[in-house]
Amino acid sequence: MGELEEYINPRLKEIQISGIRKIANKVAGYPDALSLTIGQPDFPTPDHILRAAEKAIADQRTVYTPNAGLPELRKAAAAFMDTKYGLQYDPVEEVIVTVGASQALDITLRTILQPGAEVILPGPIYPGYEPLVRLCGGTPVYVDTRQNGFKLTAELLEPHLTENTRCIILCYPSNPTGRVMSERELADMAALLQDRKLFVVSDEIYSELIYDAPHRSIASLPGMREKTIVINGLSKSHSMTGWRIGFTFAPAYLSQHMVKAHQYNVTCASSISQYAAIEALTAGRDDALPMKAEYMKRRDFVYDRLQGMGFDLVKPEGAFYLFPSIERFGMPSMEFTLRLLEEKRVAVVPGDAFSVYGEGHIRISYAYAMNVLESGMERLEAFVKGL
Ligand code: PLP
Repeated sequence: MGELEEYINPRLKEIQISGIRKIANKVAGYPDALSLTIGQPDFPTPDHILRAAEKAIADQRTVYTPNAGLPELRKAAAAFMDTKYGLQYDPVEEVIVTVGASQALDITLRTILQPGAEVILPGPIYPGYEPLVRLCGGTPVYVDTRQNGFKLTAELLEPHLTENTRCIILCYPSNPTGRVMSERELADMAALLQDRKLFVVSDEIYSELIYDAPHRSIASLPGMREKTIVINGLSKSHSMTGWRIGFTFAPAYLSQHMVKAHQYNVTCASSISQYAAIEALTAGRDDALPMKAEYMKRRDFVYDRLQGMGFDLVKPEGAFYLFPSIERFGMPSMEFTLRLLEEKRVAVVPGDAFSVYGEGHIRISYAYAMNVLESGMERLEAFVKGL
């Protein structure tokens, strides 16, 4: 129906398919390729969580749950945030169970953004935010964090704040760089923002995967809780990407509106997944620890290998990505990526998938078994030697 094309939402028409998906589709055409692209744990979902889901099925827990999620799950999620990160949220009024962190971001941004709102994004950054901002009629405002090892600081942020700034999106530990804001950087950020009329969306989906220090949320700093929406979920911490369970933690005056966007969007998250999630956040509270120990070994291995090949890169403190510079090879990240795929059958994600500030880099995921990483590094080494 070509003649109806003009009536399609122009904001949606402007949005592109994510660069990560594009490269993943391309890799599908090379069955012998070794992929280091995916932001998905390679560990199985812990067995006891599978059992809880099986029990929920056997018990016919197959009906709608309350819109905001099972009360027991919200209680478990609130307790998890309290004991792990010292954040207190009322499970009834301030916690919503969503369909992954992705839907948590969607209902959050639809609640707090109006057309014309400026939203600060520290680039390079996960590509899931900008399209949602644009769908709300907001304007993404990127802050170049390359000069500070990919970390947003109060100093870098301040010149970008205007009277239209409504929201700052923080994603630490970061996808794609693995960086984490330090205590000092968080404190300076809170000091800058605490008296300003703007929201902070803190995507903490990698909070359980920080290697050297405990995770600290900006919501725990003075003056920040009432303006911050914390996003989290089980995809990365419990290797549960396909179960689609995420959470929002936000003050009641916000959550009461977010839950409406959620209700008319999905009614509730999958009931079976919610029962599995209760198990994950109670008996499986520390399930991420053995995975983290393994990721750390892999990080050290890939980091050392890349350094040995002469790549310029920072050592990530969290998540499961490395983001080396490819600038010295003098070609765009997409060209580097496609050549690496065609010539050596290794797939990585071009840095420009993470905004223009990611250009000149590639993202390597180490959520893969050690033998895959070893072969991947051998092939990458052979490739760069030939350039
Ligand atoms: N936020 C970040 C920073 C991510 O890297 C991802 C997934 O890769 C998501 C959100 C989406 O998570 P979920 O699978 O829970 O929707």
